[in-house]
Amino acid sequence: MPENTHCIVCRIKNCEELKKTSANYCFSCKGFPCARLKQLDKRYRTKYGMSMIDNLKRIKETGIDNFMVIENEKWTCEKCGDIICVHTWKCTKCGYQVKLP
Ligand SMILES: [Zn+2]
Repeated sequence: MPENTHCIVCRIKNCEELKKTSANYCFSCKGFPCARLKQLDKRYRTKYGMSMIDNLKRIKETGIDNFMVIENEKWTCEKCGDIICVHTWKCTKCGYQVKLP
């Protein structure tokens, strides 16, 4: 795991404001998107080619089920069907490298 990604994700996961939301998603928070999330989002956009804020907006608009169908497809290795790692864009099983968008 590069840097302290885990810690930052956990800080958001354990966010007190998030616990108060009914849907348990950041977008239902009155502070959305907060500075903490924006910071993480920026890093993920730059380094890993994905945006958490965009993902959250998509979940809000289309629902988690739709989102999961699309994301499952996106993060499944076309060679072996295992999971593509968001940090390396590599298959966790066969090592197949997906090109960054
Ligand atoms: Zn694979």
